Amino acid sequence: MAITLTGEKLTAAVGLAGLFTPRSRVVLTTHVNPDGDGLGSEVGLVHLLKGIGVTATIANPTPTPPRFGFLFRDLPGVDRSGEAVKEIRRADAIVVLDISDLGRLGMLSDAVRERGATVPVGCIDHHASPGTLPVGPRYVDPSAAATGELIVEIAMANEWPISHQAARALYVALVTDTGGFRFSNTHPRTLRVAAELLERGIDPEAIYLDVYAGAPEGRVRLLAEVLQTLVVEPEAGLAWVTVPPGALERFGVGSDDLDGVVEHARSIAGIRMALLFRDIAQGRIKVSLRSVGEVDVAAFAQPFGGGGHAKAAGMSLEGPMAAVQSTVLEAARRHLAADR
Ligand code: 5GP
Ligand code: MN
Repeated sequence: MAITLTGEKLTAAVGLAGLFTPRSRVVLTTHVNPDGDGLGSEVGLVHLLKGIGVTATIANPTPTPPRFGFLFRDLPGVDRSGEAVKEIRRADAIVVLDISDLGRLGMLSDAVRERGATVPVGCIDHHASPGTLPVGPRYVDPSAAATGELIVEIAMANEWPISHQAARALYVALVTDTGGFRFSNTHPRTLRVAAELLERGIDPEAIYLDVYAGAPEGRVRLLAEVLQTLVVEPEAGLAWVTVPPGALERFGVGSDDLDGVVEHARSIAGIRMALLFRDIAQGRIKVSLRSVGEVDVAAFAQPFGGGGHAKAAGMSLEGPMAAVQSTVLEAARRHLAADR
């Protein structure tokens, strides 16, 4: 079955492409602590735009984690996150990827809001959110597994050629946001999009090795230490882990090296909600949430100012750790009890 868009989606895909004109300065951005979907979508879109004669740069609120540096090997000078505010201020068009909320742009949120009064701010996203971005064309579909999936749809709707490099980056987006095509967001459409990318001749094993098999020793040692903190409440269906203070610095790794750690807590039989707690800057505590079955962690996170997807969400709360854990875990027990 071919990937064809109809109705509103087609109109939205064509409307979004209207942002891209050959002499415009297009700047792409994504959420703080960019992940494989945010970065793969950005890099994929940079390559797609190159193919239609449009130059784009990337300006993110926090730096690219080393594990995704491989995406930029053939794109010197494109990642301008080091001077992101300046880049946003001189953009002719901004595209925000993988989020719809200004708040998730961290230190760039003011710059995007201000620049958005003058230039259009497009958005391509798969989160269920009312959205707080400035006005501009939207291509938002919470039923997509990854933002990268939506970018492939936009490319096909506009008949943009999908180069080998674009395909590789977009495949990274799909692989990471679906947990290697294992999570519940892996739909027939996701695999059709992945098939389109594989048909461009990319090497799935090489991509797997780039993303998952280049771990620094510190990532594995950090995993060992975090798993020591595991607490399980079988009667509630609750399990959580806590990153010891200063552990990232001690092992010389970054927050992206915690990616997937919460999955170990979720993997225990009978667990319906798994959490990972860690200290972040300014005395705040970040909570990563994962669920099994019907439990909706995006809905759980919402009253705390967080959000995400039904089975993978997050939020950050004012510390200290003990107080946040007590508040969040008590709410989690109630949420799970109500959901039986
Ligand atoms: P992770 O736990 O891997 O950082 O995030 C899982 C998902 O939760 C992400 O895809 C993202 O959509 C969402 N998420 C994580 N942290 C936050 C947050 O602070 N606020 C909101 N609204 N969503 C978040
Ligand atoms: Mn995503």
